[in-house]
Amino acid sequence: MKKKQFKTESQKLLDMMIHSIYTHKEIFLRELISNASDAIDKRHFRSLTDSTLGLDKDAYEIRLRVDREARTLTVSDNGCGMTQEDMEQNLGTIAKSGSFDFKKEHGANEEVDIIGQFGVGFYSAFMVADTITVTSRPLGASSAFIWESSGADGYTVTDGERDEVGTDIVLHIKDDTDDETYGEFLEEYRLRSLVKKYSDYIRYPIRMAVSHRKPKEGAEGEYETVIEDETLNSRIPLWKRSASEVTKEEYDRFYTDKFMDYEAPLKVITQTSEGTATYTALLFLPSHAPFNYYTKDYEKGLELYSSGVLIMDKCADLLPDYFGFVKGLVDSSDLSLNISREMLQHDRQLKVMAKAIEKKIKNELLKLLASDREAYETFFRAFGLQLKYGLYSDYGMHKDVLEDLVMFPSSKEKKLVTLKEYVEGCKEEQTSIYYAAGETVEKIELLPQVEAVREKGYEVLYLTDDVDEFALKMLSKYMDHDFKNVTADALDLSTEEEKQAVAEENKNADALLACMKEALGDAVSAVRFTASLKKRPACLSTEGEVSAEMEKVLNKMPGAEGAAVKASMILEINREHRIAEVLKQLYPAQEDKVKAYAKILYAQARLIGGMSIEDPGELSELITDLMV
Ligand code: ADP
Repeated sequence: MKKKQFKTESQKLLDMMIHSIYTHKEIFLRELISNASDAIDKRHFRSLTDSTLGLDKDAYEIRLRVDREARTLTVSDNGCGMTQEDMEQNLGTIAKSGSFDFKKEHGANEEVDIIGQFGVGFYSAFMVADTITVTSRPLGASSAFIWESSGADGYTVTDGERDEVGTDIVLHIKDDTDDETYGEFLEEYRLRSLVKKYSDYIRYPIRMAVSHRKPKEGAEGEYETVIEDETLNSRIPLWKRSASEVTKEEYDRFYTDKFMDYEAPLKVITQTSEGTATYTALLFLPSHAPFNYYTKDYEKGLELYSSGVLIMDKCADLLPDYFGFVKGLVDSSDLSLNISREMLQHDRQLKVMAKAIEKKIKNELLKLLASDREAYETFFRAFGLQLKYGLYSDYGMHKDVLEDLVMFPSSKEKKLVTLKEYVEGCKEEQTSIYYAAGETVEKIELLPQVEAVREKGYEVLYLTDDVDEFALKMLSKYMDHDFKNVTADALDLSTEEEKQAVAEENKNADALLACMKEALGDAVSAVRFTASLKKRPACLSTEGEVSAEMEKVLNKMPGAEGAAVKASMILEINREHRIAEVLKQLYPAQEDKVKAYAKILYAQARLIGGMSIEDPGELSELITDLMV
């Protein structure tokens, strides 16, 4: 019999397809099952206008059959079947999709929810089969046609028989090689798990005759092997049911099974969208961070389904990094079912969906914040760091999404507060949001400047994560309030009078202050008196953009060695403290003593500010000298 040639520019296309488009051989089954489901859809659709063409709704099925001796796997359906012409057109032309044409003709709607579009899925079967035989009897015909091919060298179409309308696709599975065990596709358990993984939500039953060992009736202790039909797929996806019909237990079990978490999710988010992109999303907020969350091993992403068929395990493009903790899936009927990840990345629909999903997550988080504070704080303790990194990343580009979601511990009630809550609790004339950074809340509270600002009645945010201050710098303003580090030299809450008095005092004491500065060398850029300290003798303030805390963070980053960042520090002496008086008395007569005191005060200020002492030996000597 003369073989007909595949209608493509080059037969190499088939080879390329088989070897490069799909990374997992196992997806061939998904493709064949999706085609079968499409074929049943088409038959059902045709029967809407001609009822003699259809079957009873419950009679539609997709069936898998294994013959291990013959090494064949058959996928059958009682869908619309194919005419000889269909076979030539659709199976004989690579990249020609009958389903796509059908959809173009009839439009996409509830009745035609068709999966296939690219016209390459069928050929994926050549990844596991050396010969494929398709027997199909089309609607309205009494006989069948047999299409057969062993790959790139072409195909034959001959006359055949089939009892009913529908299609059998018989794959002759390749022999096992050293690297590949094709034989696994002849194992019941393997087929069952593939159906579960990829085709669980195909709406028609996918059946297979499965053998079971069962206790023999009437014969105690004896067993017999019975063959029973098993439906392998669960058919109706949880997310296709209306959210009000699904119980919390069902959602929880779905989440824990699917995402392998031992704890129920903190929140379930469902979204159904029609319009620019039609999709259903089922999302979960985990109640704790996975152990590898803050490592590079963690992979963000949502499962992506096209009309109930899994096409990607972790579609990273559906989630921005700062919402990378969200688990779940998206099912869309109008995604151009894809042949590669690269193409998917540029898909416009996908971008539209990602945008809408991001907005939804944000709104749900805000709702949670408003309605269940405790749950939100649990969430924030697990993933707040991620949100703050999000604020900082991309030059603060995502602040509109994130600024209302972040929280910081505050001086007022030692609780987490949002920026909005802070601003709403501000004094009337207050135009800044005050913060201080340090290792722990306790250490920050000890900062002399914090004490001073609190004493004036202002609330102070305590920043304990490395990224915090950088994130606020990116924000630059929130509700018209700028951010002020209370240890910044520029922060001066004293009255005009006080300021003038201090300026005068500093001028009068400039020789003394210069002497102290000389003792400290490059460690500080200046020494001066201040009116803003209450109890403590001295503190360090910083000038310019880099705070002491930022200096610490930047210098511990990998690669920072050698290019050390320095905050510009000013040693401030409390003008109301006894030490101020003592210093003035000692100068100029006892310059050496003044210099020693300057060093001790500087060291103390560093300790109180949570910094380490640069020369502990020298400090120890200075103090001992004083004691003896
Ligand atoms: P796609 O599914 O992307 O359209 P395929 O290569 O998988 O591409 O299939 C090509 C075409 O062959 C389908 O669009 C359909 O018209 C036809 N076809 C494939 N399998 C069947 C089937 N089981 N029953 C009827 N038609 C089928």
